[in-house]
Amino acid sequence: MTSAQVSRDQFGRAIEYLRISVTDRCNFRCVYCMPLEGLAWLPKADILTYEEITETVRQLAPMGLKRLRITGGEPTIRPNLVQLVSMLRSVPGIEDLALSTNGVKLPEIAATLAAAGLDRVNVSADSLRPERISRIARRNLGFEPLTALRAALAAGLRPVKFNVVVMRGINDDEIGDFARLTLGHEVHVRFIELMPVGEMAGLTWAHVVPSDEVLQRASDAVGPLAPAEGPQRGNGPAKYYRASGAAGTIGVITPMSHTYCSTCNRVRLTADGRLRTCLYGDHEVNLRDPLRAGLPLAPLFAQALANKPKEHHLLQMQVGGLKALSQVGG
Ligand code: SAM
Repeated sequence: MTSAQVSRDQFGRAIEYLRISVTDRCNFRCVYCMPLEGLAWLPKADILTYEEITETVRQLAPMGLKRLRITGGEPTIRPNLVQLVSMLRSVPGIEDLALSTNGVKLPEIAATLAAAGLDRVNVSADSLRPERISRIARRNLGFEPLTALRAALAAGLRPVKFNVVVMRGINDDEIGDFARLTLGHEVHVRFIELMPVGEMAGLTWAHVVPSDEVLQRASDAVGPLAPAEGPQRGNGPAKYYRASGAAGTIGVITPMSHTYCSTCNRVRLTADGRLRTCLYGDHEVNLRDPLRAGLPLAPLFAQALANKPKEHHLLQMQVGGLKALSQVGG
């Protein structure tokens, strides 16, 4: 097979994007994600080494994988992440290498990661207010969204996206502040509808703010929003808009009010090496054991795609065995 190969699933969707979770652990305990006491962590021996992750990607890239995202848990708490970045960068066929992070360590490591070959970064930023950040993350680690943004841009990581999980009565009063941020900053703020997964610390459907309302409130703050192309790299399920003359864009990701499964282009690799074909379903193929046994992964990848479900059933509250998005990287 050549690197021009395209792998399609049973519904004809081209799958070119792999999200790689490198750890199930996190230094935050966001109210919508992980319980305060944490989860039952994966034993170290079960977790793929950097060599195993790279070998998996090396075997799957010729099947049409072009884009990778390193995620978690919180990927930056795994030691030597920079090593994985340079290993993945060296795999032929990979055109785009991104990182999802809570941004705490970004000021310290952005330049090193960029030098090792990271292209871009998504930062979870649910608030611009220090005290509120700690309340949502249930940890005070000194995360400053603007400092993280500046560090990422100074390192040449582009585009920088901020992911904001909007919760009514908790941070929805900052929709306007985030929208205004795009006026003078090269940042792509994506408002994500809260998804009812896991324990959720008392959050309910009443906390979900539909994206149509988010866009209305953003436009109340910055004026009319015109549909926009969005950042050049990494257009996923977000729909983008731009305020007149703004340096950045405003996006919405709408797993609750609109589905976009028909254009799904991705699969996920859990930290313990399960290839997961839908975020919200237990359609998984174990790649770790065959990999450790020296077996080829391409046939297993093809088999997984042949079983990739048409759509998720999140609205019916069917999320399989998923306890938190931290287990699969979001
Ligand atoms: N630690 C990294 C980070 O902060 O981006 C990567 C993992 S985190 C699980 C990935 C994304 O999932 C974050 O943007 C987080 O806000 C989002 N997320 C987690 N649980 C969610 C939920 N219940 N509803 C909406 N988004 C959620």
